[in-house]
Formats: sequence, C-alpha cells, structure tokens
Amino acid sequence: MNCFRLPKAWCDEVNSLIAKYWWGQSKDERKIHWLKWDKLCTSKEDGGMGFRNLHMFNTALLAKQCWRLLTNQQSLFFRVFKAKYFPSCSFLDAQLGSAPSFIWRSFLSGRELLLKGIRWEYSPGAMPKVLWSESKSGLFTVRTAYQRLEQMRREESRGECSNFENYRWLWRFTWKLGIPGKIKHFLWRAFHDSLPTNANLFRRKIKSDPFCKICDQTEEVTSHVLWQCPMARNTWALVPGRVQKLPNHAEAFPSFMLWILQNFSKAEVEEWALISWAIWSARNRFIFEGHHQSPQQIRSEALILLRDFRQANTADTATSSQ
Ligand SMILES: [Zn+2]
Repeated sequence: MNCFRLPKAWCDEVNSLIAKYWWGQSKDERKIHWLKWDKLCTSKEDGGMGFRNLHMFNTALLAKQCWRLLTNQQSLFFRVFKAKYFPSCSFLDAQLGSAPSFIWRSFLSGRELLLKGIRWEYSPGAMPKVLWSESKSGLFTVRTAYQRLEQMRREESRGECSNFENYRWLWRFTWKLGIPGKIKHFLWRAFHDSLPTNANLFRRKIKSDPFCKICDQTEEVTSHVLWQCPMARNTWALVPGRVQKLPNHAEAFPSFMLWILQNFSKAEVEEWALISWAIWSARNRFIFEGHHQSPQQIRSEALILLRDFRQANTADTATSSQ
C-alpha cells in the first residue's frame, strides 16, 4: 500500500465491507445503509464518522514516495529511479513512458496530489527549496496529504455539504461531551436523520405507513419521537430547568439540536442527550417487546447511566493522575 496503487475496485469492496459492518451492528433494525460512505469518511469535526477512505489513503501514501523522490536526491532510492525513469529531467517533469512498471505507474498516480500541495521558496544565492504547504513545518506528512484530498473531495461535492463549516463547532462540542460513545453516535444519527423512525422506514418503502406507533397521531419523525410524542412530553415534564421553557412543538431535529447546544450548558446538554437516548430506547422496547416504561423509569435510566459514566471517568482521571 505504501508503494503500489491498490485497485479502486478492491478499495471500494473493502470500504463496502466496513460500511456493512457499521450499519449492521444494531440488532433491532434491518441492515440499511442510511448514509453514503463518503459521509462516514468525512472527518468527525465536519459531521462524519472519520472513517478512512482506502483509495484516498493509498494516494496519500504514494504522494509520500513522490515527496521522497523530490526532496531526498542523495538517496539510493532516488538514484535508482532517476537512472531508470527520468535520466534527463526532473521528477516533476518525468513521463509515464511507453511500458511503465507497476511501481512507477503507482508513484506517478500520487504525483498529482503532491503538485497540488507544494510551493517553492527562493532565497538569494541558494537552491530553491520545496515546501509542503499543508503543514506548518513545510514537511510532507501522510495525514495532511489525506486531509488535502478530503478537502478536494468536499469541494467537488459542494452542493451536498455546503454548510458543514457552520456546524464544525457543533461536532467539536458533541464529540467532547462527557457521555458514553454510543450516545454520541445516537445524536450523530439523529442529526443526520438516519434513525429508523417510522417516517424514515416509510420513505424507504419498508413500512406501509409513517405514523407513530405510540400515539398514532402523526408521522414519526425524529423530533416527534424525542420531543413531541406524549411519551417524550411526559418524560421531559419531569426534568427541571431550562428544558421546561421550550415550546412543545419542535422544528426539524437538526435545528432543535443546534438550539440546545447553543443555549444549554455542557452539563445540561449531557443530560438532554441521555434523556433523549433513553426515550428512544423506551420507544424501541415498546415497539419490539411490547414493554411499557413509565416516564419516571425513562428519566431515571438516563440519569443513572449519566451518573455512573461520570463516576467512572472521575475515577479514571483520579487513578491516571496519581
Ligand atoms: Zn407519538
């Protein structure tokens, strides 16, 4: 992978295996891929899951070999390649040639990325110096090369995720919350409208109607289950504090979550996240097991989990600082 271009089809297959595993991990739903692989590969702070796109990672590794050919001209590696593939020009001007070897073809496929990220520094009396503009030190790193590719991919699909920059703070904040990872993932899925609510399943032609099975009053969209449905309302009624002042009618879940994160303290957001998750779990238990939980039980399940998580983390910090 360091030196050879992996076939794109092979990368796609591995990516699709990872996606299958990721979406198949919850038992109570069919293995639907709710979001595109590209979305999962977007960095966590830009609203993705930070998965690595193999094809892009391979390109970044190959660009590193090109960087070595460009900057390390005393090495044996450079001299061997120079003699064989570009005896009379520089690496940047080298051509593929008529019968290129697999390794040479692989290297050149990483050169385009390198060209996008280098700049030259000229100082009087010295040879021009090549710098990698994506890192502060001016030295090439695979990580910054991968980020550059990721940025290029995003620019290409601009229409799809034009406002991701506006949400960067939201994801930074969310991933840093002091709550269990599964609940952060739950928020992530709710935000991207990829929870298996009846409205979503209906849209995908898996359910015959989009209605809420708890109240049967309206379509079961995310903000309905987690906020407006009587089961949610009764649970939120038990939660003291600012949450009481919010209107019963919520907008679409992303705007609602945005509002909560902008206006609540970190501790309040953590409690809100845990209770939302407990409401979702109670909804699942009711639908799949016919088991009904009281609002008191839902709230205390959330608060116990939050308390235990905080205690475990304080204990961890205390032990590690000793
Ligand atoms: Zn309902």
